[in-house]
Amino acid sequence: MIPHEFVSEVIARTDIVDVLTEHNIQLKQAGRAEFKACCPFHSEKTPSFYVSRDKQVYNCFGCKAKGNVVKFLQEYDKLSFTDAVETLAERLNMEVPKNNFSKDKNRETASYRTYYEVMKECADRYHQVLTGSSGTAAMEYLTNRGITPETIERFNIGYAPDQWNFLQPRNENSDRTKTEQLLELGMLKKSMDNHIYDMFRHRVMIPIIDRRGRVIAFGGRVLNNDQPKYLNSPEMAIFHKGNELFGLYQAIEWHKNNRLEISKLIIVEGYMDVVALTQYGVNYAVASLGTSTTVDQLQLIFRNTKRLICCYDGDAAGHKAAWHALTIMLPILSDSVDVGFAFLPPEHDPDSFVRENGREKFEEYLDKAMTLEQYLFSYLSTHQANRNNTAELADNALSLLASMPDTVRLESLLTKLSTKVLMDREKLLVQLKRRRTYSQRPVEIRQEEDPPLEITPVRRMLILAIQYPSCVQANGKAIVDLINQIIDLNKDIKGLDVLAKLINFILKRDSGRISAASIVEAYAGTPLEKWIGKLAGIELYSRAMNIDLNNVSKDMISTLTRILVDDHQTRAISLRQLSMERKLTDEELLELTEHIRFVKKYYGKPILDADAEKPKV
Ligand SMILES: [Zn+2]
Repeated sequence: MIPHEFVSEVIARTDIVDVLTEHNIQLKQAGRAEFKACCPFHSEKTPSFYVSRDKQVYNCFGCKAKGNVVKFLQEYDKLSFTDAVETLAERLNMEVPKNNFSKDKNRETASYRTYYEVMKECADRYHQVLTGSSGTAAMEYLTNRGITPETIERFNIGYAPDQWNFLQPRNENSDRTKTEQLLELGMLKKSMDNHIYDMFRHRVMIPIIDRRGRVIAFGGRVLNNDQPKYLNSPEMAIFHKGNELFGLYQAIEWHKNNRLEISKLIIVEGYMDVVALTQYGVNYAVASLGTSTTVDQLQLIFRNTKRLICCYDGDAAGHKAAWHALTIMLPILSDSVDVGFAFLPPEHDPDSFVRENGREKFEEYLDKAMTLEQYLFSYLSTHQANRNNTAELADNALSLLASMPDTVRLESLLTKLSTKVLMDREKLLVQLKRRRTYSQRPVEIRQEEDPPLEITPVRRMLILAIQYPSCVQANGKAIVDLINQIIDLNKDIKGLDVLAKLINFILKRDSGRISAASIVEAYAGTPLEKWIGKLAGIELYSRAMNIDLNNVSKDMISTLTRILVDDHQTRAISLRQLSMERKLTDEELLELTEHIRFVKKYYGKPILDADAEKPKV
C-alpha cells in the first residue's frame, strides 16, 4: 500500500487540468480558475463538465461524475487506486515508496503486485524455452508464419513446452504460496482428484500486456490443428478480457517513442493479426481477446485516438463482428470521433493479407474504408427481408438511431435516412423521439443521488475549509482564534471538533500543496472519508461567479463570529433567567457581564430577550 503522505504529495504536485488535457479533453476557460468541456463520461453537445484548478476537482452536472485527479484516472482509464497513483507519480518522476504491508487491508495490493511478478516470470520462462533447444518446433512454426526474431522479442513471445508440470514449483511444500498464486492466475489447474497441472501445454505463448506494461494474461496458440486453436487465460483478479485490448500498449509505446500522435487505431479479430501487422509496420493495430468487441474496449480506443477503423475479414463472420461493433458503439459516439469499416477480401485475414501484399496494399484497404454512415445503410438494406421495402428500412434504422446521443452525426444520419426512404425528416424525428421514450435509452451511469444536505453554519465552514484551504491558511490565525473561543465556550457544537482538526491539518501544510483533493485524500480510509468527500462536492458559490478568495475567508470569519456571538448571547440569556430565580454568584455575574460585553461589541446593544429576533451580523 502506498503511504498516505505520498498520495497527498502526488496529488498536490499534479494539476488536474494538465492531466485532463493530456487525456485529450478539450478544456475551455470558464472563469478565473474554472474550465469546462464536453463530459468524457457521457455523450453531450454542450459542456456540463467543469474542472476547478483551485479545488483540483472535476464535476459533471449531466451525469454527476465527480472527483479528484486520482478518481479521474480510476474512472477514465479504468485503473485501480494504486495504479492511478503510480501513474501520476511516474508522470512526475517520483518514485513510489514501498511500504511494509501491514494489516489485512493492504494484502490485496500486495498480492496484486506479486501476481504481476509471477506472470512476468512465466512470460520470461516461456520465452526462454522458445529461444532454447526445446523450442525448436515452436520456433519453426513461427518462422513458417513469417514471424521474425525482432517481433518475437518485441512481443516477448514464448513457448509452453509439452509438459504437465513445467510451471509447477519443484518443491511443492516450500512453494505452496507460489502454487496457490499460479492457480489463482489460471496458469495451473486442479483436476477433480486434486492433481495440479499446467493450463498451457505445447502452445506458442503470447503475453497480454496491460496499459502499464505488465503481463496480465496469456494467449496460447497450438502449433498444429488441435482444438481449441487459441486458449486464453481465464478471467481473474488481474485480467478482465472485456477491458483490455491486445496490442494497445505496444501501439501507444511506439507512438510515444516516435513522438507521434495516435492518428488512428484499427481493431482486428485476432492477436496474431496484430503481431503480423506490427511486424510489417502497421503500428496501430489492436485486437480484443477472444470475445466480441465490448463498449469498454471501444471507449478505451476513443480515449487514445479520434479515428477508429474496424478491420475485419470479408466473410460472414467478419461482417457479423463489424455489425456488432457498430451497434454497440452508437450510444457512445461523440462527434469528435470518426469511425470507418474496412473489409478484406473473403479469403484473407489481416495476417495473411499483409504477409502476401505488404503494408502499402493493406493501408490502401484502410483508406478505402466505408464511413459509419455508408456501412450502416449498406448493411441495413442488404439485411432486410424485402430490399425495396423502405418502411422496413426506416423502421430498422430508427431503432438503431434511437440509441444514439444527440449529436450532429445523428442529425446527419436522419437527413440521410429521410432521402433514402423518401420520408419527411420531421416525421422521422418524431418517430425517433417516440422510440427513445419507449425503448431503452442509452443508459448513463448515474450515481445514487443523496437527499440535499442542510447547510448548517458548521457544515458551511467545513465546506469552505475543504474547498478553499489556502484561504484558511491566509487568515489562519484569526480563524483558529475564533474556533478556540467557540470551543472554550461550548464544546457541544456538532462538527466543530472536526473543523478544528481540519484547520489545524490545513495550517500545517505547505500552501502550494494543499487542495480539496489532497484533503479528501488525507481522510481516505478514515470514518470521515465519505462525509468529507460529500462536502467537497457541494457548491456554495455559483459556478459562474468569479470567486474572490478574500471573500471566502471573510465568509468563514463572519460565520464563526456569528456562532460565537450567538453562543455568548444564549449564555447571557440563560444567566439572566437564572438571575430571576436566584441571586447570581460573583463568578456568574462576571460571566454575564463578559457575555453582554461581547454581544454588545458585535450587535451594538445586547439583546437579552430570548424571544426577540436576533439582529443579523
Ligand atoms: Zn457527464
